[in-house]
Amino acid sequence: MSEHHEIIIIGSGPAGFTAGIYTGRANLETVIFEGLQPGGQLTITTEVENYPGFPDGVQGPEMMEIFRKQALRFGAKSIYESITKVDFSKQPFTLWSDADKEYTADAVIISTGATAKRLHSKGEDDYWGFGISACATCDGFFFRGAKVFVIGGGDTALEDANYLTHFAESVTIIHRRQEFRGSKIMVDRAKDNPKINFLLDSVVDEYLGEENLGVKKLTGIKVKNVVSGEFTEHTAEGAFIAIGHTPNNNFLGGVIDTDETGYIITKPDSTYTNIEGVFACGDCQDSKYRQAVSAAGSGCEAAIDAERWLSEK
Ligand code: NDP
Repeated sequence: MSEHHEIIIIGSGPAGFTAGIYTGRANLETVIFEGLQPGGQLTITTEVENYPGFPDGVQGPEMMEIFRKQALRFGAKSIYESITKVDFSKQPFTLWSDADKEYTADAVIISTGATAKRLHSKGEDDYWGFGISACATCDGFFFRGAKVFVIGGGDTALEDANYLTHFAESVTIIHRRQEFRGSKIMVDRAKDNPKINFLLDSVVDEYLGEENLGVKKLTGIKVKNVVSGEFTEHTAEGAFIAIGHTPNNNFLGGVIDTDETGYIITKPDSTYTNIEGVFACGDCQDSKYRQAVSAAGSGCEAAIDAERWLSEK
């Protein structure tokens, strides 16, 4: 027996909860599948200082709790399961969860986010959140006057490095080869920036740190030159891993159109996917901005698109 809902929202970050606030207020019966990481990526960050409305900053997990509360206030219901399979070939749509349950929905909003790729070098898990981060825009501010490192050679790494020079004393890009994947203009900008140094043909071998009274702190990075085989140790107070993100869209089984990197393609100026009645918002369809506030904005758009589509139907 399947359980039917007017709107199913898959994913519980800023995009999903905002969509839930809007569909709830539009009087549409809504459930939000919270997934494996209820609250999304923000639950693994510390302080969020760039979300409007929180002039003194807010802890990521607390902010997501506030979002959830607001969505539930308007009638959305949270289900603590993950959607693992979908059938969008006919309406109502059918979805299956990891609790072996079957659901149907008149409209579906996908807001499953993305996951920052990790290297899992030695020490990375120990100092994650204690000097190691995957989001320069979120955490750069905390590294005033610090020696920081950025790992990666794409546009994100180059942009993060430039951004971090606003705060850090020095920024060193560690990239595994000589040529950059990022665009020429970004490479030139980084090379012209006197605060940016490069360790090319290099990979992180180990993150080093210390623990005082239970507080962990990154203090250094051990780097291996992949050509010479030589190891060097560097003082490091911050390290930003910028080797790309993976959108969490595998469970869709390829029925929703994505670009070559797996991000859902939405129709221009809308959150419509290739399947009528299925909408996408947030980081699962945005490889460019990836901010809580832009995700929330697109969650609002998906809810409005879904509501209009349902009422036209
Ligand atoms: P990319 O996939 O473009 O680059 C990832 C980088 O990380 C590559 O240099 C890659 O090295 C390196 N890397 C990957 N895996 C490893 C590993 N295991 N060990 C060491 N290094 C590794 O991801 P980005 O996030 O940089 O960019 C994603 C998309 O977003 C791109 O299309 C980009 O252009 C776009 N973007 C645009 C911006 C803008 O226009 N302002 C800003 C940011 C992103 P290698 O090159 O050797 O494969």
